[in-house]
Amino acid sequence: MPQIGFGVFRIPDDQTERTVLDAIESGYRSLDTASLYGNEKGVGRAIAACGLPREELFVTTKLWNEDQGRERTAAAFESSLSRLGLDYVDLYLIHWPKPSRGLYVQTWQVLEELSDAGRARAIGVSNFQPGHLENLAQQTRVVPAVNQVELHPFLQQDQVRRYDDQRGIVTVAWSPLGQSTSIDDPVVGTIARRRDRTPAQIILRWHLQLGNVVIPKTTQPARMRENFQILDFELDDEDMAAIRGLDAGRRLGPDPDELETGPKQGFSSSGGRWVATAD
Ligand code: NDP
Repeated sequence: MPQIGFGVFRIPDDQTERTVLDAIESGYRSLDTASLYGNEKGVGRAIAACGLPREELFVTTKLWNEDQGRERTAAAFESSLSRLGLDYVDLYLIHWPKPSRGLYVQTWQVLEELSDAGRARAIGVSNFQPGHLENLAQQTRVVPAVNQVELHPFLQQDQVRRYDDQRGIVTVAWSPLGQSTSIDDPVVGTIARRRDRTPAQIILRWHLQLGNVVIPKTTQPARMRENFQILDFELDDEDMAAIRGLDAGRRLGPDPDELETGPKQGFSSSGGRWVATAD
């Protein structure tokens, strides 16, 4: 899995083909979508149009909460594949654990079967806390390849990252730029000026040096290139320590545990804000 990927959350389906083609043109080979995002078709159109052999791309999509469970998971997976126009994905994730439904263990067992059949080259989870991963470890046979969690300078997720590391699970950072909030931070700005880089580059480089996979989103080609150009410089210990000091445990998205307060509660994004919905 490439350590730098491209996320497409909140990009409308009719703009997704153009945006993903720009991202591929900028050098990205790893694409992160989800059934929830409503733009798998646009991602699929870009994959078909880009002219690259399928095996040069790494495509991730995710199972939405209401499709968990033995009855619905396999059908939801097939629908995602069909919208993407693919016969396999490189990585398939359970989007949220939703432990109140009690379905994520049996859902994972269906993902194990999809992996055995080669339809999902790798399988993983998203927004899983160590406790949820422990439950999987006790009741299932395949260790998730990745755990994709909210992770940025204001929410550094030490506990999750440590647990993932111990189990050999790759941590993927969603909202790696803190949905742009951390870009304006003065500490990041000082490092950016000293290194003659942009704040976004400093934050993404910090992730890489911690070993995180990043999947920043932008619709602007200049920013796509900027976010991808982070391999030709390094942060030193002082820079890393300064960013470490920004951790405030501050979430932008839902807390995977608190999401459990309502029996049928879900969430979606509206105008850039997370809102509670019924699922
Ligand atoms: P990001 O941290 O990637 O931030 C995206 C925002 O930052 C956009 O507003 C973008 O604006 C802006 N931006 C991007 N690059 C720059 C730059 N170089 N300079 C200034 N501003 C910039 O947040 P996302 O929430 O989009 O997360 C990224 C991906 O993570 C998603 O697309 C999705 O794939 C995944 N994700 C997964 C979740 C999960 O539950 N598994 C939940 C949320 C996200 P503009 O587009 O105008 O450039």
